Amino acid sequence: MKICILGSGSSGNSIYIAVDGFSFLIDAGLSGSDLRRRLTSIGSSLSDIRAILISHEHHDHIRGLAVLCKKHAVPIYANRLTAAAIMEKGVPAQFLRFFKTGRDFPLGPVTVRPFPVPHDASDPVGFVVSEGDCRAGIATDLGCAPGDLAETLRGCRALVVESNHDRDLLNNGTRPLALKERIRGDRGHLSNETAAELLAGVASDDLRDIFLAHLSEECNRPEMARMSTERALRGAGFGHIAVRLTYADRVSDVVEYSPERSEACVVGEGMPCGEIVIADDN
Ligand SMILES: [Zn+2]
Ligand SMILES: [Zn+2]
Repeated sequence: MKICILGSGSSGNSIYIAVDGFSFLIDAGLSGSDLRRRLTSIGSSLSDIRAILISHEHHDHIRGLAVLCKKHAVPIYANRLTAAAIMEKGVPAQFLRFFKTGRDFPLGPVTVRPFPVPHDASDPVGFVVSEGDCRAGIATDLGCAPGDLAETLRGCRALVVESNHDRDLLNNGTRPLALKERIRGDRGHLSNETAAELLAGVASDDLRDIFLAHLSEECNRPEMARMSTERALRGAGFGHIAVRLTYADRVSDVVEYSPERSEACVVGEGMPCGEIVIADDN
């Protein structure tokens, strides 16, 4: 399983996953030309994309969707309420495929479990993508971390989790009060502190990489987000896990897992076994 976060933040979100030559996106919040450029930079292309899964209908997750599906006839997977919301925004019904939140469905060589997340959209979800025992968990827009979320994400090899804002930077910033309240509300976005606490609670010997996603440009600093999670992981005895950043204007590291190799690795030797960093677009 190969994973790259093509873009992340309020200006546009999209995650690339490829398994056995089957490539798909989670969200398409970048423009078509931006997606094309970023996919090319990691050795893929828009014509390789076989499906797009949608977490929720906010603009930063669907910006490129209408153009993409019309131009490339890519099927779009969403639950009913999200599908209705994106059809209102110009996505033709013929491209839509439906899943039920909480119910696993097959997608090419992987199994996808969409799970509910607390966020101010119609029926927002996160995803666990499984290739056998190799799982990736994605939860990028959520206002809080309900108890069952940790259980859903535990045992994943890679996690893409929101670390949106530093509480002090948000509270002391110049944004309107209503917006601050929306962001820090239970259906808004996760602070660095809450993300770190969630991740330390979810960490296991199986977990190799964490991508911190949806960082606020105004109310966060990448190093603050990373330090907060790294500190919490060290405190929980999981200091070996790689904490990677994601970016609004460029792709993240690309990680790839080979189930055979990682099963042969000695757990706890301090190396991110089974993981190959293919490209770092610094
Ligand atoms: Zn959102
Ligand atoms: Zn978002």
